[in-house]
Amino acid sequence: MRRTGAVLAVTAMAAGLAACGGGDSYTNVMDKLKGAKEITIGTKWDQPSLGLKKGGGDPEGFDVDVAKYIVKELAGGQDVKITWKESPSSNREALLANGTVDIIFATYSITDARKPKVTFGGPYVIVHQDTMVRADAADIAKATDLKDKRICQAQGSNSYKRITDPPPDGKLGLPAKLVGASNYSECVQKLSGGNLDAVTTDNLILAGFSSQEPGKYKLLNDPFTDEKYGIGLKKGDKTTCEAVNKAVTKMWQDGTATQLLTKWFGKTGLDLPKEAPPAEGCA
Ligand code: GLU
Repeated sequence: MRRTGAVLAVTAMAAGLAACGGGDSYTNVMDKLKGAKEITIGTKWDQPSLGLKKGGGDPEGFDVDVAKYIVKELAGGQDVKITWKESPSSNREALLANGTVDIIFATYSITDARKPKVTFGGPYVIVHQDTMVRADAADIAKATDLKDKRICQAQGSNSYKRITDPPPDGKLGLPAKLVGASNYSECVQKLSGGNLDAVTTDNLILAGFSSQEPGKYKLLNDPFTDEKYGIGLKKGDKTTCEAVNKAVTKMWQDGTATQLLTKWFGKTGLDLPKEAPPAEGCA
C-alpha cells in the first residue's frame, strides 16, 4: 500500500510540474505554440542594441526584434504571448536544458563545444570578433597586440578563447591575462575603470556599447573570426529547428534582416552583413 502511495505521489508531482509550465509539458516548442500560444524567450538584458532591458519594460534590440519575427512565423503569423527571461552567456545551455526558456536569441555563437548540448537553428547572421580599447590607447592596434594584455573573460562566453586557444573554438592561441566578469556590461565597466586593456568579442556587441558613449572607446576594426549566431533550442528539438530555419530564410528574403540590422547598427559605421548565412543542418 505504502509503495503504491509513494508512486502515486511522485506521478502527481510530475503532472503538477508539467501543468506549471515546466520544460517537459510539451515535446517540442512547435507543439507548445500550437496549444498555448505562449513562449518564453531568452535574450541578453545588458547588451545595448542587441538585448537591453531598461526599467520595467521588455528588452529591446536586434536579437529581440529577430526573436519576435521568428516566433510569429513559427505561430503561423498569429500573435504569441511572450515572456522574456534574461539568458547570460554563463547560463544559456542550462536554461534550455531545464526548460526555463523555450528558445534563445542572445548573441549565441554556434560552437563545437556547445553542439552536444544545444540544437541550433540558423545561423541568422554572421558577425566577427573585434577588439575595443579606450580611445586613448596607443599600444593595441590589431588583435595580435593582445598578447600578454589584460582581456575580459565574460563567464560562459567563447570570445576569450578565440584569443587564448587554438581552433576549433579558439583562434589565435595567444597568451593573455584573463580578467573575469559576469557579462559584457561588466567587461566594459572594467575597461572604463582601467582594470583591463581590451574587451574582445563580437563586433555587434562592441558597437552597441561604444555607441552609448561616443568618443570614449575605439574598435580596432581588425575582425578575425566568423561568429555564426544560432537560435538555441533544447537538444533534440529538430522539429522546431527546421521551422526556425524556414523563418530565417524568409526574414532575409523579405528584407526584414537588413532592415533590422540597419535599424540597430546603421549609424555605427560597421560593415553590416548583407546576405543570409548558409543554413546548417539541425542536429
Ligand atoms: N558570440 C559569442 C559567444 O556566444 C560571444 C558573445 C556571448 O557570449 O554572448 O560566446
